[in-house]
Order: sequence, then C-alpha cells, then structure tokens
Amino acid sequence: MTKDTWGRVRDDLMQTMGRDAFNNWIKPLELLSDSDGVVGFAVPTNFFGDWVNRNYGDRILQGLRTAGRAVERIEFTVPARESVAPDAPAPAPRARASAMAQPRSSAGQPEIDLPGSPLDQRFTFDRFVVGKPNELAHAAARRVAEGGPVTFNPLFLYGGVGLGKTHLMHAIAWEIQTRQPGARVLYLSAEQFMYRFVQSLRFKDMMGFKEMFRSVDVLMVDDVQFIAGKESTQDEFFHTFNALIDQNKQIVISADRAPGEINGLEERIKSRLQWGLVVDLHPADYELRLGILQSKSEAQAALYPDVRIAKGVLEFLAHRISTNVRVLEGALNRLYAFASLVGREVTLEIAQECLADILRASDRKVTIDEIIRKVADHYNLRLSDMLSPRRARSVARPRQVAMFLAKTLTSKSLPEIGRRFGGRDHTTVIHAVRKIEELRAVDNQIAEDVELLRRMLEA
Ligand code: ADP
Ligand code: MG
Repeated sequence: MTKDTWGRVRDDLMQTMGRDAFNNWIKPLELLSDSDGVVGFAVPTNFFGDWVNRNYGDRILQGLRTAGRAVERIEFTVPARESVAPDAPAPAPRARASAMAQPRSSAGQPEIDLPGSPLDQRFTFDRFVVGKPNELAHAAARRVAEGGPVTFNPLFLYGGVGLGKTHLMHAIAWEIQTRQPGARVLYLSAEQFMYRFVQSLRFKDMMGFKEMFRSVDVLMVDDVQFIAGKESTQDEFFHTFNALIDQNKQIVISADRAPGEINGLEERIKSRLQWGLVVDLHPADYELRLGILQSKSEAQAALYPDVRIAKGVLEFLAHRISTNVRVLEGALNRLYAFASLVGREVTLEIAQECLADILRASDRKVTIDEIIRKVADHYNLRLSDMLSPRRARSVARPRQVAMFLAKTLTSKSLPEIGRRFGGRDHTTVIHAVRKIEELRAVDNQIAEDVELLRRMLEA
C-alpha cells in the first residue's frame, strides 16, 4: 500500500474520531508492512498497540477496506529502536523485556536498591475494616495483592482525604511481600517520585533512574495528583508507566480524585490511567465508622488495659464525627490517653468534654440551611417550597428527605429542626425520619438520592 492510501485512511479517521483521540493514538502509528492481507504498524510500546487495537482496531480495518485494500487483519509491533522506515521490510520485533528491564528471577543479576517509602506496620489488610463505602476498593486491592495473573492494570484508587487509600496500598505491599518474598515491590508517593527524578537529572543519572524503576515487579505511586502541572515529571512517569505495563508488571496508583478530574494532568496520561480498573473510596457511613472505631478500640485496649469506655461512647463518636477516618482515629486515641491519665471510665460526658474542639469542628460541617438548599436544588424546587405548608408528594417527599438529613447529619434537636422547616411540629420530623428510613430500604431511587446528597453535604 502506498503512503498516500494510508494518508487518506488517516484523514478519514481524524474526521470520525476527533482530533484529540486521533493525535494520541493514530498519528503515532507508522505503516510498517502490507502483505498477504496483513497490514503491520509500528507502535512505541506494546501497551500502545493493545490499546489502539482494542479501541480503534475495527475502525482502522474498516477504513483500509473502504480504501480498497483487501485486509484481513492488522498487527502492531514494537520495532527495534534504531530504524523505523515506513515501507521498508519489517524490522525484527524487539523482545518483550528489554535489556534494561529484565524480570529479576535470574540469579546473579545486580540488585538495585529501591528508594521506596517505609511501610506503616499498622496498615495491613487485617486492620482494614470493610464496609459498603470501601468494599470494591478493598476487593480490588486484595486481588492485586494475591498476585496471579494481572487482570487489571493499573489499579487506580481515588477518594478524599483520610479514607484509606494509603492504608490499602501499604496493605497490598505487605501482603505481596509475605506471599512472594522475592518480589520487588516499590511503594512511594508521587512527590518522592518527582524528587528522585529531579535528583537523577541533577546528578546526570537518568539511566540509573530508569533502570531502577523498570526493575520492579509492582509499582505503587500514592497521591499522583501531586505531579499535575509538573511537565517533565509527568513525562517520565508516563514512560515508566508504559514500560511496566508492557512487561505486565502490576501498577497501583492513588489520587484524591478521578483521573479525568485531575487538572493539569496530560490527556494521554489521564486516558492511560483509566485503562485498568478505577475504583473510588466513598466517605465512611455510620456503620463503617462504628466498625472502624470498634476495631481501633480493641487495638487501643491492648495498650491501655485499664481504660474502660462506657457503652454508647463509640456510637456517639461515629454519629458525630463524619469528616474522615483520620479524625475519628485521632479522637479515639485522645480519649484513651486521657482516660489512662485520669483513671476513670470514659463516659459520654467525659468524651464530649475531652473532644469538644473536634466535635465542634465536625459539627460546623453541615447546617440545616445548607441541607435545605442542596435538597431543593437536587429536586429542582424553590427554597420556599421546602418551608411551605404544601403537602403534594412532589414537595413533601424532598422535604422529608431534608428533614432526615438534618436529623442524621447535624446534632440539632427534633423541635429545632421542625422550627427550621417552616415552624413544623417535632412529631412531623419524627414521621419524616421514619418514612425515609423505611423508603430507603425498598426504594432505590430514594436510597440513591439520600446517599448522593449526604455525600455532597459531607464533602
Ligand atoms: P488516605 O491515604 O486516603 O488519605 P489513609 O489511608 O492515610 O487515608 O487513612 C487515614 C487513617 O485512617 C489511617 O490511620 C488508616 O489506618 C485509617 N483508616 C482509613 N480507612 C480505614 C478502614 N477502612 N479501616 C481501618 N482504618 C482505616
Ligand atoms: Mg494517603
């Protein structure tokens, strides 16, 4: 096939795919060979080839056929670095593992020290409490930690501060090291990744840097949003990433938001990060918060055998502190330390006193006004509807949702909540709370609405 034919096919593809996708995935393709119904393209990495094949293979094939070529299939090859000349005979494909990145199995290969961050002893799977908000992330992390065939790559974990991303990543590292003591697991923050990169530039040791990163079996980079806007670091990250994916090495990434939402991250990186499994950790709900408190409380009890915590205190904390798990944990630690000093049982009153600042800070989070506004917004109602005496279902239901949220997200009393909703009686609030509780169990739409609103309000 002449380059012109391919050129025309490319033009058509650009029309149908859009410029961005075209520039990312089609433009870099180089026509290598065309014989016996097989058209070959050179691609920069195996990963790249897989991606193009999966996502655009059919279109390319279609395009070639429309241009009059009798093509049966297309092929993607990573050529040897030296010569990639279109229309020249196909160069021998490069071996999958390149010279500088061999798997470590062979004895006698020089050990390269890994510059990872230390792992926290406490961040193991044993100590990770699983609930609805994090069960998917946990299951995915477990799967990765079990080793075996790489099924999704990368695993991308995201979620707000203190929801357990770092804990899960460390747990993966611990678990892999236990199961396969020889595996090279590298965990580090994106910040350290950048630090290493800058150091190696400074000391002119890029080879060492590349070699080191490409020698790992599992790479984990925490808080990757940090490299947003840092161009050359991103570039290097991208290359490392591709090289490891090509070797079928597991990658685990975390960030505080979804790949597509990280501003200042290059499009090609965003789309590659989405190639594997993207899972989010939701804010802990009441049950999970309580579960975490109970589990941490057991660990604390071992340190402070004399401390007694009165019934209801953990429930109270789980109810009132909904910001993030780290804050919850801090509160519990303080309680234990305090109790061991004063040598008394921790009652609800003592807890309230001892944690006044934390409780106040998390109380400030959500106000009834905010709840009313958000709920009205969500259901497309006017604020005045929420407070009006109207009882039509289209207004009454959202109002009940708002009352339910006011009861569960703030520490306001029932009469106070009633007053704020157009001077209603506290029995109306009780009724609303019960109603929504009931509906949540049987009506998916309501359950989703409540969950969504709660998350927006607590965010
Ligand atoms: P992130 O990295 O998402 O900001 P971390 O993993 O550092 O959050 O978690 C903050 C703290 O909360 C850690 O001490 C961690 O052990 C604890 N934590 C978070 N989620 C859980 C959980 N599901 N079970 C037990 N501890 C948790
Ligand atoms: Mg973290």
